[in-house]
Amino acid sequence: MTVTSGNTFGDVAVLGLGRTGEAVARYLADGGRARSVTVFGGASSRPGEGSRALESAGVRVVCGTDEVTGSYDLAVASPGIPVDSAFFRSAEAASAEVIGEPELAWRESPERWLVVTGTNGKTTTTSLATHLLRAAGLAAEAVGNIGVVCTGAVAGREPGSWFVAELSSFQLATTSRLHPRAAALLNVTPDHLEWHHTLEAYAAAKERAFANMGPCELALVSVDDDVCRGVAERCAARGLRVCRLSVEGEPEGPCAAYLRDGVLTVRLDGVEHALAGTGELRIRGLHNAQNALAAAALALEAGAGDEAVRSGLRSFSPLEHRMEPAGEVGGVRFVNDSKATNTDSVEKALLAFEPGGVVVLLGGHDKMTDLTSLARAVRARCRVAVCYGEAGERIAAALESEPSGLVVARAPHLREAFDVAAAAARPGEVVLLSPACSSFDEFGGMAERGRAFKALVAERAGRGA
Ligand code: ADP
Repeated sequence: MTVTSGNTFGDVAVLGLGRTGEAVARYLADGGRARSVTVFGGASSRPGEGSRALESAGVRVVCGTDEVTGSYDLAVASPGIPVDSAFFRSAEAASAEVIGEPELAWRESPERWLVVTGTNGKTTTTSLATHLLRAAGLAAEAVGNIGVVCTGAVAGREPGSWFVAELSSFQLATTSRLHPRAAALLNVTPDHLEWHHTLEAYAAAKERAFANMGPCELALVSVDDDVCRGVAERCAARGLRVCRLSVEGEPEGPCAAYLRDGVLTVRLDGVEHALAGTGELRIRGLHNAQNALAAAALALEAGAGDEAVRSGLRSFSPLEHRMEPAGEVGGVRFVNDSKATNTDSVEKALLAFEPGGVVVLLGGHDKMTDLTSLARAVRARCRVAVCYGEAGERIAAALESEPSGLVVARAPHLREAFDVAAAAARPGEVVLLSPACSSFDEFGGMAERGRAFKALVAERAGRGA
């Protein structure tokens, strides 16, 4: 069954010709949901198979320009387009309203949304919340930044199902009425500043997840970092039902999610749900306990029972490229955390291992973020760090800026860095790819980098080394 409100959108401009733009254009063109649909692919876009397929569905496609021309009732922007870019601004000038893609999906199908946002942990929490809802026999689909365009999922949405939407700051920055039943903010640490320019703007975009919520809905907010604590206070001041999330203490209030003697515990309206022990989870590290608490609170809020949540927490396996066990060779464990593309995620990953027994691989495309805190964490918890790629030298220099027992090695690319790390690791130790950088200097994305790492492990295992 199609769940739509039967809206007619008038004349619509769609910005971007990637997966999002294409899904939006198709959705609008199907069944006459818009009077006309024009896709502006952007300055670097060229006509090709994708644009021709859209044209045959009745969509007008304009390639090779960042200027939106004409007059529109609505423009829908893809998440890669910054709100202060000339492209976005020209859409504002040409349209009555400009929104992001999840906002469109929500307007079309607004029931039962759960939103997950934060700098790190979104995908894990979104997948786990979906898994828990399903464990409780509820229909649920993970959508959004996780790789499923929300609008694309609307047409086939099962009635009564939950949308668990992973939303990035880019996607939230362009929402206006989106109104989930519950939303979780996991953390805010510096990232994507090339898009938002300031940490304040980045945090404000994330805070938009709660903008339209009322006193009955659940605002689940971490209180383990300063930025999030501020958000929790503002939500409370607005009279929202705030559930404070912490892995460092036991927050007060009728709603809270925390660890009590190592047991994941969620309190909702004064009722306590003691769930699983952290040792029972297959996902490791304190950061994953935080993700599990958030997912459990969302699932309980959506009506899942304690027993289903308990068994779902125990059965959930690590996702690919996120602290994923990649094999053991000669007594050395290899762990693929290729998704750790910023410094905070590496610091959290390191906490999951015994100090002193880690050989870490760091490097890739240099985002020029501050390395002070990362360097401190690596010096405290690793025995060896192998730095490679475009950012390698800057990271190595940061690690060496203070005396420590850490062995710092340098290598040009991931392959050589892997060989150095594997040769240095002693039985019982861990070789951890948790690079703190994106991968674009050498790979097409973090997934390609993670697969390359796993192939190197398999090669080494094949050699019996
Ligand atoms: P996202 O979708 O927000 O990028 P993921 O679940 O894909 O988050 O995890 C990305 C990386 O961030 C992981 O490799 C892990 O090292 C780290 N991470 C996961 N959860 C958290 C968390 N709650 N806090 C800090 N770092 C985390």
